[in-house]
Amino acid sequence: MRESKDFLRTIVEEDLKSGKNREIITRFPPEPNGFPHIGHAKSIVINFGIARDYNGHCNLRMDDTNPTKEDTQFVEALQDAVEWLGFDWEGNVRYTSDKFDELYNYAIELIKMGKAYVDSASEEEIRENRGTVTEAGKRSKYAQRSIEENLDLFERMKKGEFKDGEHILRAKIDMSANNMQLRDPLLYRIRNVEHYRTGDAWHIYPMYDFAHCLTDYMEGITHSLCTLEFENNRAIYNWVLETLGLNLARPYQYEFARLGINYTVMSKRKLLELVKGGEVNGWDDPRLPTIAGYKRRGYTPESILNFCDSIGIAKANSMVDVAQLEFCIRDDLNTKVPRVMCVLDPLKVTIENYDGCEDIDASYYPHDVPKEGSRALPFSKEIYIEKDDFMENPPKGYFRLTPDQAVRLRHGYIISCKEVIKDANGNIIEIKAEYYPDSKSGSDTSNIKVKSAIQWVSAKEAKKVEVRVYDRLFLNEAPEGIEDINPNSLQIIKNALIEPAVITDKIDERFQFEREGYFYADPIDYTDENPVFNKIVGLKDSYAKKTKVTEPTTQAKKVQIDGEVVAMSEEQKALFDKYLELGLNSEVANTLARDENLSKFYEEALSLLNSPINLANIVSNEVARELKQMQISELKFSAKQIAQLVKMIDDTTISNKIAKQVFEEMVKSGENPTKIVEDKGLVQISDPAKILPIIDEIIAKNPDNVAKFKAGNTKLLGFFVGQVLKATKGKGNPKVVNELVAEKLK
Ligand code: ATP
Ligand code: MG
Repeated sequence: MRESKDFLRTIVEEDLKSGKNREIITRFPPEPNGFPHIGHAKSIVINFGIARDYNGHCNLRMDDTNPTKEDTQFVEALQDAVEWLGFDWEGNVRYTSDKFDELYNYAIELIKMGKAYVDSASEEEIRENRGTVTEAGKRSKYAQRSIEENLDLFERMKKGEFKDGEHILRAKIDMSANNMQLRDPLLYRIRNVEHYRTGDAWHIYPMYDFAHCLTDYMEGITHSLCTLEFENNRAIYNWVLETLGLNLARPYQYEFARLGINYTVMSKRKLLELVKGGEVNGWDDPRLPTIAGYKRRGYTPESILNFCDSIGIAKANSMVDVAQLEFCIRDDLNTKVPRVMCVLDPLKVTIENYDGCEDIDASYYPHDVPKEGSRALPFSKEIYIEKDDFMENPPKGYFRLTPDQAVRLRHGYIISCKEVIKDANGNIIEIKAEYYPDSKSGSDTSNIKVKSAIQWVSAKEAKKVEVRVYDRLFLNEAPEGIEDINPNSLQIIKNALIEPAVITDKIDERFQFEREGYFYADPIDYTDENPVFNKIVGLKDSYAKKTKVTEPTTQAKKVQIDGEVVAMSEEQKALFDKYLELGLNSEVANTLARDENLSKFYEEALSLLNSPINLANIVSNEVARELKQMQISELKFSAKQIAQLVKMIDDTTISNKIAKQVFEEMVKSGENPTKIVEDKGLVQISDPAKILPIIDEIIAKNPDNVAKFKAGNTKLLGFFVGQVLKATKGKGNPKVVNELVAEKLK
């Protein structure tokens, strides 16, 4: 078990010590409406991990109360993810839908107690009567209905006598509660659709707030651990259980921070868009942050578990650098996997003074702590090296092969270049080389100095392989949508050459290709005829900026608070409450309230522009990031300028995306945002007259895709929108572009 206890484990230990609980029972309760992602991994590790640490158990429960989006393929993916991470649920998988009868009976009980009523107001009326954070709501006139009438209506709702939305069942709590969630929340709604498990048995479906606490109760859960966005729902959770008198052996809810990772999207809804839109190849596309994607790419369960451990469990949401996850997989594979040679972009080298062939005994594990195991590495007159390991006119500091500089062939001999052969266009197509017989690795008596060793393969014995090189799926740290997709996130190399033992020995599925990175034999597409390898990760973080701390774990750990949360001071609490009233969500309010610099900055901007939510977003993200690296007095921009920037977003002069670009410029130059927008011509383009010609051009350029689209491949809509936005350099108003493209392609 980890040495420093997190706040959840602290609570669990106290509950065991005080005798409140004898056994710890947790649950992981996903909705089967998509494939689980790395955020779910965090929740799995917390829920199953705590149960394991305290000899309790953890249920795997499908929270399947929304019949329109759920499906068994997602149930399977969830089971798979939990198992792959090495956890075990006790007994069968649980389903909230298995409890529909019991839940219905609890609802009837509430009605009989006068604590729930059927409301027949329209959705709009209900919304209006809910009030605001500063204004109490008004109870619906239908709340007057008698118990008999409510029972009758509720039964008929169940039987399917009404249309969707005609009635709902609401709890009768408090229409003037400060916590808006308590203003007579929804318990049941009508949905006349088939459920993937219960078929057409039901026409009403329970809401999360009603079903979750009761299912927890029925399963004997002791600690119901969920993410921060449910903080305000805790009051309903408690109300339902207490009102029904379920006070003994009842569960309690605790919240922890959601995991966010940069350069990706995480919510299942957004992932579904990518999958459905054909932006990626299915839910297990190795570029996705889904567990299936990581698994297919070659991540090990250990690396994911280590990652979840390294980010800790905190009460404040924060963004974790994807470099930290990459660090974890590199760290795991570094000592484990065999090292072999593969040439991705081959250049032929003919060693003129070598004849015949030989096998070099080369260790698979030439690690710091070497392990047993080696292979025969064929060497012959004709070999291939990596194209960019030779340069005719090298810059200073180039250590590999040049006309004047010898190089060592890894595990083999030193060679030098005798002649460069080019084709008619001047491209280098072959090197004539010479080798030094007494320079063999391990028994080198040649005294020739070289500055590096490069990978190579023998031409005759090498095997052709396909290598899929993945890069980040999004170009932006906080991507908004498909327009931020990295067009080069997948590069397929068809003619890479690998040393034969990798294919014939099958010693492992994961390898380090020396000097290139870690690779994984694709579990689906790999065949002996066409071996396919996925690049898991490079050998080092190619994105790390020089100014950044190089060790990603230490960097991210600083942001994370591991252990118990520090309580807010009176002042912070007051700010926090005020921010909630302004409509900020609790995470943003929390971030701002707890940081004096940020809240001051925010207050000042707010005094200049009444746009609490947009201001808060930019201050709690962009400004906060800058303030991590410098003092407030060192910032080149002011609160006033941030207010000006947000004003331009508010009046749609610029998009959110452009705002980020402008902000980056403000950070550097301290220039006024309005001036930056003017100088760089960044004003958002919403005028159809300007956008339509671009659309026409893109359509004209892509007749094949238009034909495919018209033949029913609607996934391609995203492609066209992306191209148009790209052509406007991101200035096109995404909403307008979307509508216009859809219209044009009709
Ligand atoms: P999404 O918004 O991605 O669809 P969700 O919260 O709707 O996620 P559920 O399937 O309802 O997903 O979640 C199952 C469990 O996983 C919940 O307890 C939820 O709080 C947790 N969870 C989901 N996303 C994250 C995350 N990013 N970090 C930590 N826990 C998460
Ligand atoms: Mg969800």
